Amino acid sequence: MDRRTFLKLTGLTTLAGGATTTVAGQNDDVYRPGGPRRGSPQAINLNAFHDNEQLAAALQQIHRQSDRTSLRALTESAGGAGTVWEMQVGEGDTNVHIITQIHGDEASGTEVALKLLRKLALGNGRQVDRILDEITLTVIPRVNPDGAVFAYDYDDDGREEIVGRRTNTQPWSPSDSTYEPYYHYSSPSGTPSGYDMNRDFSIVTDFDAPDDEDQGSWFANRFFDLEYEGYTLFSSGLRLTPEVRAVTRSYLEADPDYAITHHHRGGNLVPDSGGKGPQKQSLLAIMAAFGPAYRDRSLFYPPDYEPIQQAVNPFLDEATSTRSLQLNALVANALAEKGNSVFDSTTRYGYFPLWGSYLDALTPQTNAAGMLYETSFQTDQIGQKAFGRYLQATVVGFDVTLEAIADGSIADVDPEDYFDYPPMGESISPARGERLRP
Ligand SMILES: [Zn+2]
Repeated sequence: MDRRTFLKLTGLTTLAGGATTTVAGQNDDVYRPGGPRRGSPQAINLNAFHDNEQLAAALQQIHRQSDRTSLRALTESAGGAGTVWEMQVGEGDTNVHIITQIHGDEASGTEVALKLLRKLALGNGRQVDRILDEITLTVIPRVNPDGAVFAYDYDDDGREEIVGRRTNTQPWSPSDSTYEPYYHYSSPSGTPSGYDMNRDFSIVTDFDAPDDEDQGSWFANRFFDLEYEGYTLFSSGLRLTPEVRAVTRSYLEADPDYAITHHHRGGNLVPDSGGKGPQKQSLLAIMAAFGPAYRDRSLFYPPDYEPIQQAVNPFLDEATSTRSLQLNALVANALAEKGNSVFDSTTRYGYFPLWGSYLDALTPQTNAAGMLYETSFQTDQIGQKAFGRYLQATVVGFDVTLEAIADGSIADVDPEDYFDYPPMGESISPARGERLRP
C-alpha cells in the first residue's frame, strides 16, 4: 500500500476544516490555490513585516556595521520579486542552518531571524561572545521573496492589495519535467502559477530533472516517486525552482549539525488542557525528523509498517534522530518553563517523511538534527497584539537553541521529553478580529 492509499484509508488527509483532531505531518497549512487565506488583506499589518527591499536594506546595514558577518545573494527569486539572501555570523565549529519563509505567507520567522542576526552581529556580552565562538550560524531569512510580497487585486476594486502567498511565481512548462508536479499550483485568474517550494527538494542534491531519462517512468500521475538506495521516495521534489537549488547549495556549504525550518499553520488546541474551562490554544507545534530507531513512536504508522520510508526517514541514524528529538524538546521545555502561561502550550506535529522537503531531503546529507517550527495562524489571521506573542515563542526557541548548543547543555536534554508533548489537538480557525484563546 502506498502512503496516499494508506492515508486515504485512515482518514488522515482530511486536513481542511472540521473537527480534525490529528493532522498529517508537514502539510502545515492547507493550500488554498494562489489566493489569500481567510480574512481580508486589511488584516495584515504590513508595518510588522519587512518587504523585500526593506529586508535587503536591513541585512546590508547589519553587514556594513558589523565585522562579524558575511552576506551573499544566493539567487534572484523565480518571479523576480527579490533576492534570496544568506547571512553568516560566528566562527565556531558547530554549524547551524536556519531557513524561514519558504512559504511566502509565513512571515514571522523572518522577523525573528533578522532580530537574531542583528543581535549576534552587533551585540556584546558574554552570551553573544560564547555563541560566536562556538557556532557558525547560516541564515536564509526569506526563501520565497515572490510569495512574501505578492500584490494583486484581491477585492476587484481596481487597486492591487499586497497579499502574501504560499508559492513562488514560477510557471511550469512541459520542458521542465515529464508531468506538471503535484506541487505546482495554478492561481486566481490573472496571477502567475507557482511552486510550493517545500515540496521541491530532492535527496539527490544535484538532481537535474530535465536531463534524467528515468524521470518519466518514476512519475505516478503528477507525483514523482524517486528510486534511491533501494527505496522508493514518494512525492520527491524535482528541484525546478532556483530558490530550492540555492538553499540546497547554501546547506551543503554550511555543512550543518543543526537545521531549522520555520513555518506557520492553522491554529489548534492543546488536548485535555482545559480542565473544566476552555482548552488552551497551542502557540507552537514542533516536529523532529527521525529514523528507524524511533519508528515505534510514529503517530501514524504501526511499528511494523512497510514501506518504512513512509513512516520514518531511513537515512537518519539513531544518533542524529536522538539529537533531533533533543533539539525540539529543548525548545518546548524552555517554553514550558515559563510557567502556566500562553507559552506552556507546545504541541507535537506528527512526523513522517515528506521527501520533497528541506527537513527530509537535506538533513540526512550532513547528519543534521532537524526541527520544524509551526507557529499558529497565518499572518493575516492574527491581530497585531497576538502577533507579538507568536514572535516571542520563536525568539525563545532560537535563543535557547543557540545558547544550549554553545554551552553544550543540549546534550543533556532527555530526548524522551519530546514525546511527552501532546499531538496537536482540534483545529481552530477563529474569524478575523475574534479574540484568540491564549
Ligand atoms: Zn509552511
